[in-house]
Parts: sequence; C-alpha cells; structure tokens
Amino acid sequence: MCSREPLSTQNPAIAGGPYAGAVIDLRSDTVSRPTEAMRAAMAGAEVGDDVYAEDPSVLALEERVAGMFEREAALFCPTGSMTNVLAIRLLVPAGAELICEARAHVVRAELGAHAAVSGVTTRTWQHPRGLLDLDQIDELLAPDLGPFLVRTAAVAVENTHNFGGGSVQTAEGLKGLRALAERCGVGVHLDGARIWNAHVATGTTLAELAEVADTVSVCLSKGLGAPVGSLVVGTAEQVAESRVWRKRLGGGWRQAGVLAAAGLHALDHHVERLADDHAHARVLADACGVDPAGVDTNIVVVPCADAATAVAVARAEGVLVAAVGARTLRLVTHLDVGPADVRTAATVLARVLREAA
Ligand SMILES: *Cc1c(COP(=O)(O)O)cnc(C)c1O
Repeated sequence: MCSREPLSTQNPAIAGGPYAGAVIDLRSDTVSRPTEAMRAAMAGAEVGDDVYAEDPSVLALEERVAGMFEREAALFCPTGSMTNVLAIRLLVPAGAELICEARAHVVRAELGAHAAVSGVTTRTWQHPRGLLDLDQIDELLAPDLGPFLVRTAAVAVENTHNFGGGSVQTAEGLKGLRALAERCGVGVHLDGARIWNAHVATGTTLAELAEVADTVSVCLSKGLGAPVGSLVVGTAEQVAESRVWRKRLGGGWRQAGVLAAAGLHALDHHVERLADDHAHARVLADACGVDPAGVDTNIVVVPCADAATAVAVARAEGVLVAAVGARTLRLVTHLDVGPADVRTAATVLARVLREAA
C-alpha cells in the first residue's frame, strides 16, 4: 500500500470545524488576509483597463518593481505559476530543457505547466536544502551535444527555496551559476517568489540577488501579504513578449489596479517586517526539535514519522500545518501569525511531535 495520501489542505474553520476564526494557520504564507490599511488602499485605487495598459496603479507597480530589481520592465500577473511559465518560455523553446533542483516549485508544484503548456522538459539536481550545486549542474548541462540529446536552454534557481525549507542561496552559488551559464551559453531564471525574504535575511539588495538571472519572477501574495499578484521582471522586450503570452493564456485582466494597489501597499509596509516572520520561524523550529540555526527565513521543515497523523492531531488543537511528504511537515510564518500565536503553536506542536515519536 502506498502511504501517500493527497495532501490535506482543508481549513477546519472554513469546513465549519470547532475552531472557526481561531485557528493558527501555518500551512503557507499565502493564507494571510489583507490588512485593513491594505483594503483601504485597494478601495481608493485609481484604475483603468490593464489590457490596454491604461491602469495607472498597475503601471506604477510595474515601474516600481522593475526599479527595485534595476531592470527595464515588469509585468503584473495573477500568479507566480503564470509568471514562471511566461519567464521560462522566454528562455527555453519547446523541445529544449530546463535544469532545476528536484524539489523546485517549477518542477513539483506547477502541475507540469512547463511541459503541458510550453513543451519544456526538465532534468534535476538534488540538494537537501534546495541549494545550488555547481558540480551537479555542470554535469547536467548539455547546451550543444548534437542532434540526439535534448538541448539545455536554461537553469532555474529558487530563492528562497520553498520545499528546501525557505533556504537562502549563497552568494558564491549565485555568482558561480552566473559564470557557468555564461560559459555554456544558457539562460538563468530566478524563481524569486520569496526573494523578499532572502533580501531581508541577508541584507543583500534585490538587484544584487537578481544579478544571477536573465528573467525574474516575484510574488506579492506570499510573505508580503497581498491577496493576489506576481510579476515577471526583465528587459522591455521580454516583458512585451510576456504581455502577449499573458493574454494568450487568459491572464489579461482589466481594472487590476485594485490588486496592484495592494501590492504597492505591501512593498511600502510589509517588506522589513519579514524579519519578524523569520524570528517566529526559529521559535517554532526550536519547539519542534529542529535546529533554529538552520532556519534561514519563514519556513520550517520538520521531519516526522507520520506526517498525516501529526497534521490531523494538530488540526484538532487548532493549529494547521502542511504535510509536504509522507514524513515531512512544513510550517510557514506570515503576517497573520502574531507572537502570541507563535507561543501557542509552539506548545501544541511540541506536544504533538512528542506524542508522535
Ligand atoms: C508560491 C510559489 C510560486 C507561485 O505560486 P502561485 O501559487 O502560482 O502564485 C512559485 N514559486 C515558488 C517557489 C513558490 O513558493
């Protein structure tokens, strides 16, 4: 029998469980809800038709994010899965391959989009924390090995690495990848869904963190706490091409400025505070028997003999965590998890894990 059950994602508050309104939700940083101030910014947003590129709030957000990364342009899109599809197809033509880490979001959590939509194949390297391994990447790269081997067109790097436990890529790794990619003539895509966390954890500028890459994807809907939204960041030409494909894929949206306003508010108010989430994650790690020194940002990966049971027991006590594998739990801190919630969750999870052991 296979012990892998579908990952439990249900929130008992929504399912009408006994903890309606009082759960501490550590499943993901996507579950946070817009603050009152963010809602006010959304309500007051100036808007226009973004398919005509006439939404002033969207244009302001795109210009702001492009500037933060010192790139020419950016395109606001509904999801990070879409921005990854748009960016990767700029670098990898149908029938060519993308090299990425084995648990990268692009290869594990986008439902095969790069294959299903763009005709991209993948090969992977492995690192326990999802970090770059230049020797393995060098070994995998096949930019031009004749007409019988798939051509490598790009490498994707995830920073921070989600399933690797919110790990931050090292400066040496990023520099080495850039050099390797240039030497071999392949592109680099940065899946920077949580690049903000890497920026706050290291103090390195966003532009510097992105130097490794030809295309960048960033999310506003994770730790930054916006309800919706991601951007592709690159050259004016890349972004113009992505604008066409965004519409082709059904992502041309109209008065999206109400969402862009949430993103602008998040950039003003929710970046530096990610340091609180990182501190909270270390508290939870400690309670769960994981070395806090190994927690770079807001994600804690906890080994556990029976993840599905631990999820159910914690849920019955009002703490929601995710099983990301048969023996792996993931806890993610965010805007809606305050210091008191962290103390409560730490107590509950320490007990659940002790009883499970
Ligand atoms: C969340 C996430 C994405 C994008 O996810 P969407 O839910 O499609 O917005 C991409 N990459 C990583 C690493 C992520 O964690």
